[in-house]
Parts: sequence; structure tokens; C-alpha cells
Amino acid sequence: MINWETLITFTYPHEAHMAKLFLESEGIETMMLDEKTIQVKNFLSNALGGVKLLVQKEDYERGIETLKRGGYIREEGYKEEEVRIVYVDKSHDDTYCPFCKSDNIAKKRGIKILTAIIYFLLGIMIPIFKIKYLCYDCGKEWKYRKARKQALATP
Ligand SMILES: [Zn+2]
Repeated sequence: MINWETLITFTYPHEAHMAKLFLESEGIETMMLDEKTIQVKNFLSNALGGVKLLVQKEDYERGIETLKRGGYIREEGYKEEEVRIVYVDKSHDDTYCPFCKSDNIAKKRGIKILTAIIYFLLGIMIPIFKIKYLCYDCGKEWKYRKARKQALATP
């Protein structure tokens, strides 16, 4: 562990996996920490400081450059994900990405803060999820919101 340094942290394991693959495709060796714990208890992610992606010390600078190139890091810190709102009517098909039509998508269950509070107070899990979608092909994230008729025209 002496030669390893945390390069970047993520809230969700799948984000860390995408960055890991990207770094490794550039020939940078990586290691992941706290992935399994967070996979089981997503809401602990913040408490644990997220899923950590580590690189060897000598790869650190190159790792940062690579992540900047890949859009994982912006000037002031790492990338804040942009979640788009997609307005739909009742009959929408949520098995496809509304942007690139790929079906290589995932539902992300972000757990609301209320769920976490109930868990810490009572020790029981009452999941109150807000569902986000992620497309592995175009990398976009979105939420669906029911549209009133006049809002449907807005992309
Ligand atoms: Zn897509």
C-alpha cells in the first residue's frame, strides 16, 4: 500500500469501474478500495468517503491528466454528474436510453437522505428511492418526470 495513492473517489462503484477501465486502457494500473462495502450499503458511501480509485505514486500525475482528458475531472475538482430531466407521458418505454436509444442502461437507486436518517435512528431500512438512469453507451444520466401536455414539446 505504501506506493499507492488515491487518485479519485466516486459515490457509486459503477462510476469507479468506468474510470478504472478508462485508466487501464491507458496502461495505468489501478486498485479500488471500499467498493464491496459500498455496493452492499450504498448510503454509506459518503460516510466512508466514497469508492476510492488508487494508482501507484509514479502514475499519479499521468492519472490526473488521463482523468481530465476523459472528463472525470474538471478544473476545480472531480466531475459533478449532470442529471437530465426527461419529460414523458404515461406510455414511455424506460428500457432504452432516450438520447442514443441504447438498451445498455442501468437504474440507479439513489437513496434519499430520509431513508438514511430513519436507518440511523431506528436501525431499520425503509427504502425511499429516487431512481436515476444511466446509459453505459453515451454516459448520460437522467430522471423521468411526468409531463403535462404542454411540456412534452421540450426535449
Ligand atoms: Zn445513451
